[in-house]
Amino acid sequence: MTIRNETEKENLIEGGKRLAAVLRALRAKVAPGVTTEELDDLAEQMIRDGGDDPCFLGYTPEGAQRPYPATLCVSINDEIVHGIPNESVKVLKEGDIVGLDLGLRHEGIIVDAAITVPVGKVSEEKMRLMRVTEDALTAGIAAAVPGNHVGDISHAIGEAIERAGFKVVKELGGHGVGDLVHEEPFISNYGHPGTGELLEEGMVLALEPISSAGKAVVVLAPDGYTFRTKDGSSSAHFEHTILLEAPRARIITA
Ligand code: MG
Repeated sequence: MTIRNETEKENLIEGGKRLAAVLRALRAKVAPGVTTEELDDLAEQMIRDGGDDPCFLGYTPEGAQRPYPATLCVSINDEIVHGIPNESVKVLKEGDIVGLDLGLRHEGIIVDAAITVPVGKVSEEKMRLMRVTEDALTAGIAAAVPGNHVGDISHAIGEAIERAGFKVVKELGGHGVGDLVHEEPFISNYGHPGTGELLEEGMVLALEPISSAGKAVVVLAPDGYTFRTKDGSSSAHFEHTILLEAPRARIITA
């Protein structure tokens, strides 16, 4: 969406604050022995207690065969994104890394964010993969300036990941957000500076670098949602919803 007035902007900012608070609570709950379903339940409860709606629950993304059945996406280790927390429920183990991706609708406006967090003590490679992917998000946000192009964001993200020796998961990427869960433009996590759609003040975007420690070949699980790496290598995912302002974007879900 493109923000049209002060009320929309206030609602966007408030929704982002609420989403960030839920993600903080989820991060604090992550520990060995906790189930994916417990995380999903906490996310849904917190969102509903705030008077808002989970916006992934019941949503059917383009190409999917059925509505998404949960509030939260929980993707562990080689699961890249869209792991379903409440069907084949998993127990978190020491050494896992777990991606938590969540969207909510506040006063009609949708915000979307994701973090990847360690479960107890994890390997140095997994720590580095998470750090690099979060840094790639920071680099993408820095390039998300009115007057730049979508390709500037894509390039910044892709460079940050590949420079560190990891791979970009090319099938997935960021998107416009706000009125709908997924809007134009698609924001690839690799690309060329100066290409693609012009970035304009007021645009609301979800940037989401997704990386792999291996070959980044993607397979879709039989559940129709969970993407995993074909070679079993770890994957990390970080996402913020941002509002394009000059001289730099405002992070809505910080
Ligand atoms: Mg997203």
